[in-house]
Amino acid sequence: MGFKITDELKEEIRSRNRLEDVVGAYVALKRSGKSLVGLCPFHNEKTPSFSVSPDKQLYYCFGCGASGDVFDFVMQYERLEFVEAVERLAERAGIVLDIENETPSQRLSRRTRDVLLEINTLAARYFRYRLLRSKLAAGAREYLSSRGVSAKSAELFSLGYAPDKWDDLYTLLAKRGFSTEVILQSGLVKKGRASAYDVFRDRVIFPIRDVNRRVVGFGGRTLPGKGESQPKYINSPETLLFNKSHVLYGIDLARDSIKRLERSVIVEGYMDVISCHQHGFTNVVAPLGTSLTTAQARLLLRYAPEVIILFDADTAGQEATLRSLELLRREGLRVKVATLDEGSDPDSFLKENGASALQTLLESAANLTEYRINVIVSATDLSDASLKAEASRRCIEALVEVIDPIERSEYSKYAAYQLRVDEEVFTREVERAVRRGRRAGDTFRKNRYTRQVESAVDPAASQESLRTPGAGDALAEKLTKAELLLLGMILDNPSLASLVEGELIEESFSSPSVFRIFRMLCDEAKQGDSEELLSAILNRIDDEAERQLIHRLSVGAEKLDSVSDPRRTVLDCALWMEENRVGRKISSLQLDLREAEKSGDSERIRLLGKQIMDCQRLRQEIRAKMSNPNEYR
Ligand SMILES: [Zn+2]
Repeated sequence: MGFKITDELKEEIRSRNRLEDVVGAYVALKRSGKSLVGLCPFHNEKTPSFSVSPDKQLYYCFGCGASGDVFDFVMQYERLEFVEAVERLAERAGIVLDIENETPSQRLSRRTRDVLLEINTLAARYFRYRLLRSKLAAGAREYLSSRGVSAKSAELFSLGYAPDKWDDLYTLLAKRGFSTEVILQSGLVKKGRASAYDVFRDRVIFPIRDVNRRVVGFGGRTLPGKGESQPKYINSPETLLFNKSHVLYGIDLARDSIKRLERSVIVEGYMDVISCHQHGFTNVVAPLGTSLTTAQARLLLRYAPEVIILFDADTAGQEATLRSLELLRREGLRVKVATLDEGSDPDSFLKENGASALQTLLESAANLTEYRINVIVSATDLSDASLKAEASRRCIEALVEVIDPIERSEYSKYAAYQLRVDEEVFTREVERAVRRGRRAGDTFRKNRYTRQVESAVDPAASQESLRTPGAGDALAEKLTKAELLLLGMILDNPSLASLVEGELIEESFSSPSVFRIFRMLCDEAKQGDSEELLSAILNRIDDEAERQLIHRLSVGAEKLDSVSDPRRTVLDCALWMEENRVGRKISSLQLDLREAEKSGDSERIRLLGKQIMDCQRLRQEIRAKMSNPNEYR
């Protein structure tokens, strides 16, 4: 960080970058009531659902849920980190960022990062130059051409060569005036007993770049027939710039294609990425020899919701791989698996079968659940009853994780068929396991994708949401119309909060987090006006889904303009929510009553009967107070 981001600085930048101007540079906006609307830049759509509120300086997309303020917009659109978005917007507004204000450790780390970037850029150029010009690189050039890497690909990926010398790069860097200390920090040079020496020697070099095309690290491969005692591939060690688990090889070149094609493809190695890109598969990336991480899942999710794993059959079927695929799924990606024959890789597959065969393979990729079932079944001798039972158990484990009931039922049938067990019995077992899981409170974390599937199964829900590119959780979808209207109105006019503050309890809301937001609104409403209320609330909320809800409420979705009597409307909303709460309470008491009747507990029957009567009376009273009971459903 090159400067200290104070609240004052943020506000100054915000006030000098009107959201509608910043968005307007990318999206054609039209006025609609208090808001401006346009085609969402974050998902494909034909009718505008992207809404900007000039009053509130917030945006919200009703199609994909993308939402936030001017900083969020620049971060999402330009794929920048927060600090980078601050810099970009400061520059746009002509604000000079005050480097004097940073703390000494911030200054040191910023300078070190800058210097390390400089070293990496220089080293990449040095390796590249060596590959192109050096006599010593003949073997490397031969190797790359034998692997079919075109000159164009080599250029695109900035491939290079580190000569077989102990301190060529080190000497160059030292000559350029970099201190030994910082050269060592770059990870390109190591400290030996006598002197420092280059880490990469006699290797083909693959510069590793982040999404913004900055060289953050390097990978190096030995040449065939040489250095047999050495590991075939080595990477830069972790540095201030380089965190292996956060980057994906090729992401800088793939990110736009991933967005356009709405899916990414993960392969295993550098050469696979290069070969795929060369054959026109430009949405392909690879992890750097580690299993996939949460950070990588989120990186991919920024661009598209679907990922296809293209590993050879052996790797893809391994427990470790399956676990890392589950991790991708839990992070909200739709995971599919396309497998190559054992021992084959995308590079060799492309050479043998061509691009159209790979395209076919990718199109026929199996859903992760289906794939897991296949792996389990194919490893089991189904003629052995106990092995078959064990395989069934493992399939059930996989099926229990499928949240969507229709999808689960389809895969249960598929698994039963593959396992050659009775479909009805097997499906019943799966559903029992699901209920058991839920009762134990072991509810599976609902991810964005499964939620999208759930809403897709509901024909009322927008199909558009299926293609959400990394939007937050649509908490708003779970709210009733009355809740949305109530919260929207209070946000718009904080003085309304006092009317209903004492009337509603946690159970009146569809989720505890909505109640928390309501409480915050009531607290903050006592402090000041609407503008301040909004930023005060947003400052207090860390949860992404809750922030998104506030964004949505703020862009004026609830058509507050058409409300003629705000006080009456807020009261009606609260009454409707109360009526709803009491209704839920009655249903639950009635269930208890049925249980009590079964067990013949007459004292409990009497007590529950009385409670139900009380609740029914309360409900009648609430209904009598409502001016239009059907309005808020
Ligand atoms: Zn959208």
